[in-house]
Amino acid sequence: MNKDYYNSFLDAAEKSIKENKGAQLFKTRDDIGSLFVDRDETTWRFRTMLQHTIENLDEELNRFEKHFTNKNNAVYWASDYQDVFASLKKIFKAQKVRSVRLPNINASTIFRELGMKFFLQEEKIALSEDGDIQFFVADMMLADLGALLLLNQSNNSYSRLTNSKTNVFFTTIDRIMSNSDWAEVYHQLATYRSGGNTQEAVFFKGSSQCNNYLFIIDNQRTQLLYNKDLRQSLTCLQCGRCQDVCPVLQTIGDEPYNNVFSGPIANVTLPYLESHESYKHVNYACLLCGRCEEVCPISLPIRDMIIDSRRALLLEGNVDKREQRMLTAERKQLMSRSKMNASKMMKNIKLGCFFTSEAKKTRKLPVFKSETFNKLYLKSKNS
Ligand code: SF4
Ligand code: SF4
Repeated sequence: MNKDYYNSFLDAAEKSIKENKGAQLFKTRDDIGSLFVDRDETTWRFRTMLQHTIENLDEELNRFEKHFTNKNNAVYWASDYQDVFASLKKIFKAQKVRSVRLPNINASTIFRELGMKFFLQEEKIALSEDGDIQFFVADMMLADLGALLLLNQSNNSYSRLTNSKTNVFFTTIDRIMSNSDWAEVYHQLATYRSGGNTQEAVFFKGSSQCNNYLFIIDNQRTQLLYNKDLRQSLTCLQCGRCQDVCPVLQTIGDEPYNNVFSGPIANVTLPYLESHESYKHVNYACLLCGRCEEVCPISLPIRDMIIDSRRALLLEGNVDKREQRMLTAERKQLMSRSKMNASKMMKNIKLGCFFTSEAKKTRKLPVFKSETFNKLYLKSKNS
């Protein structure tokens, strides 16, 4: 890692915090590669730090809270959305809030996960440019400094943050790093998909000029934490790169998920974040091809976790036998060259037979191309 650049950023951030402005803006450099001397080693050390944080989550969260809390900064622990809404109602009442400033409520996963839009509608709280208070997504908590890292891609902005009297931040228990030295590496890796090199981030500690409320939400993440094989899924940066390469998602979209979480890592996490019963099928929306792991910036062993997750659900007796039979038959069809050289009509009929009527209610069946496997193979070889 290029320490000189990073140290200068950190010095500026600390100075700004001491001057009581509370927030420091920083931009990543144009060339993502310039951040790393040895990219593999840096990302490996970064992942180790994240893993260490998750392994010691209770201590790190306490450390963060201790450093962050003061007379202007308050932390609210919320086990689920009901806790969040109950506390928010109290804040709204105490501050006589009638409107909230929050650009693009639909773009942030955490607001969709909580169902914030519907809550605000129910409470008759308007979304407006000059809202009484402002909502932000806290992308990362920095435990050693008690500061928040807010990325521009989550609709956070420096000007919004420094021009407000009351700020409410939302994050989840897994969005934490023990060591703030890695803040820029995180910033680079997490925003790479959306053009990380032009993204900005804000380093926020709070100031005496504004009141800050931070919600730290569990929403079932502790279920993953209890499972020692799967807890590393909590270190996912949510960069989305694995989604772009997954052949299952490219072919059938995110229909099997029907949730705000989708994609390779959701195959592991979704049954835990929601319910095993409703989401056990997403474990099987994977060919174990490994493309997701190739692009994952922190080399998460996604396939191993998917297999572990399948095994865990199997041991709990939480596997749909009909679904299993359906997928086995489908796999046999797809892996047989002679069957794939049959006519389009035959292949589509067989596929239709494999799917249970229950599955057909919620999924569209894929349609085979008219050419046989052999013809398509020769075509791709000659192109
Ligand atoms: S291993 Fe599974 S989740 Fe990962 S890219 Fe392949 S099909 Fe998608
Ligand atoms: S699993 Fe890896 S590639 Fe996928 S979103 Fe998480 S960090 Fe990004």
